[in-house]
Amino acid sequence: MTIALDPATIFFVLQASYLAGAMALAYARYRSADAAGLEMIAVGFFVLAAGALLAGYTEVDAADYRLLSLSNITLGTSSYGLFLAGALQLSRRRPACPRWMVLVPPLLILLAGLATGFHTVNWLRAVVFNGSAAVSMLAAAWAFHRDAKTEPLPTRKIVAFAFAAAGLISLVVAVEFGISQFWLSPILAFVFILALKFAIALSLITFTMERTMAKLDHLAHSDMLTGLKNRRSFFAAVPTSVNAGDAVVVLDADRFKRLNDTWGHALGDEVLKAMADAMVAHARRGDVLARYGGEEFILFLPKTGETQALAIANAMRAEVESTTISGVRTTISAGIAVSPLGETPLKHLIAEADAALYDAKAAGRNTCRMSGMMDDSVAI
Ligand code: GH3
Ligand code: MG
Ligand code: MG
Repeated sequence: MTIALDPATIFFVLQASYLAGAMALAYARYRSADAAGLEMIAVGFFVLAAGALLAGYTEVDAADYRLLSLSNITLGTSSYGLFLAGALQLSRRRPACPRWMVLVPPLLILLAGLATGFHTVNWLRAVVFNGSAAVSMLAAAWAFHRDAKTEPLPTRKIVAFAFAAAGLISLVVAVEFGISQFWLSPILAFVFILALKFAIALSLITFTMERTMAKLDHLAHSDMLTGLKNRRSFFAAVPTSVNAGDAVVVLDADRFKRLNDTWGHALGDEVLKAMADAMVAHARRGDVLARYGGEEFILFLPKTGETQALAIANAMRAEVESTTISGVRTTISAGIAVSPLGETPLKHLIAEADAALYDAKAAGRNTCRMSGMMDDSVAI
């Protein structure tokens, strides 16, 4: 099968596709607060559409060739500058450079064109256009790959792949024009470039959706004040039926109402946050610590046993006791229950830990009490 496309059709298809890409990205940016930078890529697509329109005219209107080709190459480099600046900002969640800097490459090209007229040489213009596309998109691919360390979203790989593939094709085309040797048929290069632009736009939209979903997931499962897991997340993370040796600790701030009444609710919030941090410092990998409600926390210690559970709870209690916030010191009490047998319902273990907490409060607070599930209550 032979496919033949005349330049006018190619440029028309490019304009329509780039415009569609620009609108889809602009809408995705409008709907997402977590997609700063995407608007620059949307504008980049729009500028590419304008460039394709001019390129179409350049093909047919030889009279204005000099002006049209200069505008065309200036627009092309603008769009790839926008692609790169937008991709860097989107990926790392902060601007990589001041916005005006995206004007530097096109201005340099414009000045170089005015001074030398290089843009009227077809192959040279193609090298600059495709070369800037290659640099911009390979750098964008690298950024999406690099930032996976700080934000490991699965779609990053697809975005990086789409940018890298588009960058490599542009590099091949730039080299082809540079050495005047063509391996890819122009139709094949056109189809690749178009398909990969679609892949970039689609993967970027999926990326922003994934980022928003991750944020919503985090909000749904974590406690806003302390950053710990919330109650829902605790129950999602801990099995409903626990094994022998698994422990539950319920920790409650002592006389917290009095602290609020004396020092104010805002300081109470700060104390709660510091309390959570103190507890986190003594939780092991695999332990599940959550804010259970108000000034109460819950801790699940898998395969721990009485002695170690008591030691961890007491270390948390001592850490809270030694923490001061704006000169205010507070304490916590803890009730501990360790499952004596396998398949103990979690709810049962929590009720036992709660009862032990009640004993700790009755014993004067700032203390840990072991539930009598296994043997006699142990106190520290
Ligand atoms: P006890 O030692 O018996 O536990 O006494 P308590 O005062 O800590 O217990 P009580 O249940 O009477 O009061 C709990 C207080 O915790 C009341 C409430 O205002 C406060 N509290 C709950 N959630 C928050 C919060 O998010 N921020 C602040 N600042 N206070 C909170
Ligand atoms: Mg309390
Ligand atoms: Mg309480």
